[in-house]
Amino acid sequence: MEKKFSKEGWIKALRGLGNKCMVFVPVKEGDFHTFRILDEGKKPDFSYQNSRLSPKSIVYPQSERMFECILGESETGGNIYQEAAKDYQLQIIAGIRPCDAHAFQIVKLNFDNPEYKDPWWVQRFESTTLIGLGCNEPCSTCFCSSVGGGPFSEKGLDVLLYDLGEVLVAKGITEKGKTLIDEAEEGEPVDEASRKAAEEVSLSAAKKMSSSMATDRLKEKEMNHLFGAPFWEEVAFACLNCGTCTYLCPTCWCFDIQDEVMGKQVDRLRNWDSCMFPLFSLHGSGHNPREKKFQRVRQRFMHKLKYYVDKYDKGVQCSGCGRCVRYCPVNIDIRRVAGLMNSY
Ligand code: SF4
Ligand code: SF4
Repeated sequence: MEKKFSKEGWIKALRGLGNKCMVFVPVKEGDFHTFRILDEGKKPDFSYQNSRLSPKSIVYPQSERMFECILGESETGGNIYQEAAKDYQLQIIAGIRPCDAHAFQIVKLNFDNPEYKDPWWVQRFESTTLIGLGCNEPCSTCFCSSVGGGPFSEKGLDVLLYDLGEVLVAKGITEKGKTLIDEAEEGEPVDEASRKAAEEVSLSAAKKMSSSMATDRLKEKEMNHLFGAPFWEEVAFACLNCGTCTYLCPTCWCFDIQDEVMGKQVDRLRNWDSCMFPLFSLHGSGHNPREKKFQRVRQRFMHKLKYYVDKYDKGVQCSGCGRCVRYCPVNIDIRRVAGLMNSY
């Protein structure tokens, strides 16, 4: 199923879908783009490179109420945790970049596998439709093509959009995506010229990819050998342990669980956490197995580029979005570190 939309027609179609479910779109706020619910006051902007924060929070909130209880033995059900009400209404992320859709597939291996299922992540992910927007002009820091994706990769997407300037071509990929395009109130059938133009835009984008990351030999490396490599102190030297890399990353999934008490109300929350913070691995005994900065930096890269590789045998835990490269305040670059590990 394919359809062609004028740019205005596409926004109109999304507003129509917004009457049936929640539609998230990229919106410019200050110097950056971020995904927001499309409502009357919001102006979507699809002429963007990518959002600073990845859209992972739409499926996996930065802070989520897991359970709640009322303190006190005299209360009915007092002191007993009940699952907090959650919202699983149907939602669409429109304009997600292919690297960020691929990232959900990487995270899915952790939250939805035969051994473990995170009920909240799974339900929210299953309520979500992903409408991707191919990248006509990949950034110099993008390297999706070398980690199993590409500027027009369909991996993890329900629909893929091709921006042809005046018009958008929407290609349904999954059954869910095909139905959505079919039912959209706007749009018209795709002619041969537009189909050809879409193919050309995709080929031209692939040729513009200027950055890559070496990963081909990571699997064959001996884990303890890499763990004890001499370059970790140097790699970590400038790191500020700010956590920017992990919070912006669409494939980082670590969290912490905390109980918060307000009067008699207790909320059990899970909040994103970061392996770059010293508190992350601090034991109740006071011992910290990753007390030193280089140990924490090593953990981040070993997890993404070695533990994940060995455990799942499905590539690296990185979709090549380039956010950690662009926003690390001291320019620690995963492409360089992967190169060191790959050739060690
Ligand atoms: S963004 Fe850079 S400085 Fe901050 S924790 Fe990550 S690697 Fe360290
Ligand atoms: S590790 Fe960096 S480049 Fe890879 S997905 Fe995370 S933020 Fe993007």
